[in-house]
Amino acid sequence: MKELKRCAHCGGEAKTNSGVRRQGNFCMAGNEVFCTKCNLTTDLYTTMKEAIAAWNTRLDGWIKITNGPATLPKCNNYYIVKRNGGGDKWVGEAFYRCETKKFTTSSTDSDEWGGVTHWQPLPELPNDQ
Ligand SMILES: [Zn+2]
Repeated sequence: MKELKRCAHCGGEAKTNSGVRRQGNFCMAGNEVFCTKCNLTTDLYTTMKEAIAAWNTRLDGWIKITNGPATLPKCNNYYIVKRNGGGDKWVGEAFYRCETKKFTTSSTDSDEWGGVTHWQPLPELPNDQ
C-alpha cells in the first residue's frame, strides 16, 4: 500500500478505513483516510488507492469542506479560505468562529461569509528577524 502522509491539519498519524459511514441522513459505503488525532477525514472513494491519493494531495494545500464536520477547522482561529462568488480566484483570510460554526472577516465582526468551500492553515511566520 502507498505510504500515508501525516495530517495536513494537525500533523497527526493517518489511518485508512473501509466500510460504511453515516453522511447526512444516509449511509455510504467506500474507502476513506482519517487522522487519528483531529479526525479530519477525506471524502469516500470507490477504491482505497483514490482515497490515499486524495489524502496525500491535500497535504500540499487546500482542505475541502464536505458534509462531515471532520473537514472543518478548529474553531476560533484564522485560516486562509476560498469561497464561491466574487470570481473563481477569490481567496482571503477568515476567522472560524466557535459559536456560529461560520467563517467571518474577524474575531469581532459578526459579518458571516457564506459559501466557503476550502480552507488551509495560515503559513508559518517568516523566520528572518
Ligand atoms: Zn489531524
